Amino acid sequence: MALREEQILRYSRQILLREVGGRGQEKLLAGGVRLKATGAAGLTAAAYVAAGGTAVEAGPDPLTPGAEGFLVSAEEVGQPASEVLARALPDVNADALPGRGAGRLAELPAEWDGEGPWVALGGDGARGVVVFRGAAGCAGCFEATTAVLGPPPSGALGVGLGALGALVLQRLLLGLGPALGACGWASPGVLTDVGVRRCGRCG
Ligand SMILES: [Zn+2]
Repeated sequence: MALREEQILRYSRQILLREVGGRGQEKLLAGGVRLKATGAAGLTAAAYVAAGGTAVEAGPDPLTPGAEGFLVSAEEVGQPASEVLARALPDVNADALPGRGAGRLAELPAEWDGEGPWVALGGDGARGVVVFRGAAGCAGCFEATTAVLGPPPSGALGVGLGALGALVLQRLLLGLGPALGACGWASPGVLTDVGVRRCGRCG
């Protein structure tokens, strides 16, 4: 898929990054995720992912208070995420409309299927946690790591966690970095290490 002139203009900032480039931008445009999110973390992640050119297809769960932000107005809280994003995404990026890709982007708790990439937004006490898995990562270890986490934080911590989750997803789509991992977001701007829990098969 070759980039059109208006796409080169739209994505010029990320195309200029050595790790993205024109080829990388084509990968972001070819990718897509199913989104399961009702709050600040997931909706923020969806906004960044869509702005980068990757398709986002939201599920039907109603948006919860705190979801308002880039994509959601205060009046839209309580409406199904799928309906709100179907209205909002064409304005953010008409390249990012649903219909392609096998990725999953979800606030925990969530179910996981398909090849990936998978990005989970969760929480661990006061800390937000992103757990991620590319197609080559072990699904059992991913699920073991997410199983001990709760939902993602709300408010500013959730917004930051969502932005981090979008970046992690884009790195997986670009084929950068490890195929399995986790990182914590302890307070805005403070990344912490989170260990991956091993599944029964990996020991
Ligand atoms: Zn494993």
